[in-house]
Amino acid sequence: MGAMSDDDLAARGRAIFDRLREDDQPVEELASASSEPSIDAPGVEEVLPEDVAAGVLVEDAGGDGGGDGVGGLPTAETPDEVVSELGRVDEDEGVDRPSDDQPADPAESAADVTTEHEAPTAKVDTGGAGLGPNPLPGGDAPELQSPRAADIGADLDRESGVVADHPGFRRPLPRIMAIANQKGGVGKTTTAVNLGAALAELGYRVLVADLDPQGNATTGLGVNPRNLETSIYDVIMHDAPLEDCIEPTSLRNLFVAPATIDLAGAEIELVPAFSRELKLRRALEALGDDFDFTLIDCPPSLGLITVNGLAAATEVVVPIQCEYYALEGLGQLLRNVSLVQANLNPKLEVSAIILTMYDARTKLADQVASEVRLHFGPKVCRNIVPRTVRLSEAPSFGQPIIVFDPSSRGAIAYRELAKEVSGGAPQRVG
Ligand code: ADP
Ligand code: MG
Repeated sequence: MGAMSDDDLAARGRAIFDRLREDDQPVEELASASSEPSIDAPGVEEVLPEDVAAGVLVEDAGGDGGGDGVGGLPTAETPDEVVSELGRVDEDEGVDRPSDDQPADPAESAADVTTEHEAPTAKVDTGGAGLGPNPLPGGDAPELQSPRAADIGADLDRESGVVADHPGFRRPLPRIMAIANQKGGVGKTTTAVNLGAALAELGYRVLVADLDPQGNATTGLGVNPRNLETSIYDVIMHDAPLEDCIEPTSLRNLFVAPATIDLAGAEIELVPAFSRELKLRRALEALGDDFDFTLIDCPPSLGLITVNGLAAATEVVVPIQCEYYALEGLGQLLRNVSLVQANLNPKLEVSAIILTMYDARTKLADQVASEVRLHFGPKVCRNIVPRTVRLSEAPSFGQPIIVFDPSSRGAIAYRELAKEVSGGAPQRVG
């Protein structure tokens, strides 16, 4: 943990809270407002305006639980609550209900699941109007279209870099993917670990950067946070070189920049820091093009740590759980993506949506999948990750699914996703 006492934390929380009260203005204004850096230093114009970041910070406190606190308003009423909300970790962790898991049935491959969703990747022409309700060709227009989903569609049109006629997933290397969704338990970490592993298996050099204080990607890749001298916390808080903390994994081309629980403090300790939004980006830049893919496992919040992830990324990958409230909070995420895009990272866009925990037995999963496709069009990966108990078991063995159970449906799904998301970009030789 950082060296801050409870009193220090409370004082900082109070300061943040007070400032947010004063700065209660629409985000659009904040985005264009001139920044007032807390520290006099050159180059500070690169940094997200203080108010914007603070707005981002509190807006999302408490947005991790799948329901509470969405809608851009602080949910905490007292400074102490702000502090505790800021420090909150993913409470949804482990909500996986084993009874919902399908038995690992090798006969029912992930490919079978995805054929039900043969959503063509053909371009959807929206006449440049962004993502309207565009049922994909193939007639899988959903019956279900909630007002919430319509709102999100409008958000997309207005604010984010998401466009319907996406040219595909192929992009120039190196690629840095922020795997983000402020909801907990949607499959961010599972995707960072297993997509990363499958990309490494394809021959790419892959780094999984763990930005979640819970360190699930770290342990899921077999690294014990207790044995570490340096972690991503030191990189973000103390400008330690990223390469000092990078650890190998059981897969040859796969590496992890591990997180420890210290990182929970960084969310608040970072607030007064110079260039606080760009810590991770600078650290990754210093690595050069060592890695073809860097997958950043973001925490279940939209605070400064996630902003660091978004600012460092070349693209955002959003896992969406095929469950109730799947789309809730997405508008908020996209608004934050566009804030970072406007202020820090002009090229940032949502490149891919990955449907996770798909349960072929439920109608709901189908409806969610259809609804997501309706709004995100070809951004949605054709390969869907099934809900399978093997995927939830693998982390306790410190192994990605392709090592833990190479022929399982989860392994097949993440392998196919890796092919799809990499778009067949040429791998490095040697
Ligand atoms: P997040 O990082 O978004 O909080 P996780 O990847 O940690 O989400 O997933 C939450 C829980 O669900 C974990 O216990 C994980 O093992 C489990 N899980 C994730 N994906 C699947 C899946 N496809 N099938 C079954 N369980 C899954
Ligand atoms: Mg996680």
